[in-house]
Amino acid sequence: MKKTLNTYIKKRDFNKTPEPPGAKRNDENSNPIFVVQEHHASHLHYDFRLELDGVLKSWAIPKGPSMIPAEKRLAIEVEDHPIEYAQFHGTIPKGEYGAGEVYIWDKGTWQIEGDAHQGIKKGKLEFLLKGKKLKGHFLLIRMHSLQVDKKNNWLLIKKNET
Ligand code: MN
Repeated sequence: MKKTLNTYIKKRDFNKTPEPPGAKRNDENSNPIFVVQEHHASHLHYDFRLELDGVLKSWAIPKGPSMIPAEKRLAIEVEDHPIEYAQFHGTIPKGEYGAGEVYIWDKGTWQIEGDAHQGIKKGKLEFLLKGKKLKGHFLLIRMHSLQVDKKNNWLLIKKNET
């Protein structure tokens, strides 16, 4: 079990939710995947997830990703999710964490530009998405804030293709 999944596991009761407990390993030979899940929880948001180190790095995007460079979207970093979460869609039961419907909005593969670990540390990830809806170069940039409750705020930005 990946240690970074501790928060994910702690928040959920796998006897009650159909979400995956996160026991599987991914095929390391395949291209890293990304997924965007439309999540009708108490507030509608889109969960943007990038495969890295055998887990899905995750951000909740209230307005959803945009293909328009001028539309910078707030992306709140949340806990890592297990790799098989990329296939999850369905209903999280009432009373459980994140209760509501989950749909797969887009999926595909992604390619980091530079070093992903350095990027996360420094708060700047540049990458290429190859999905159905999301295609091209994107940036995830951590916002600077002195407020503790905003330290996980990033912006997802579509880059101009040159
Ligand atoms: Mn969510």
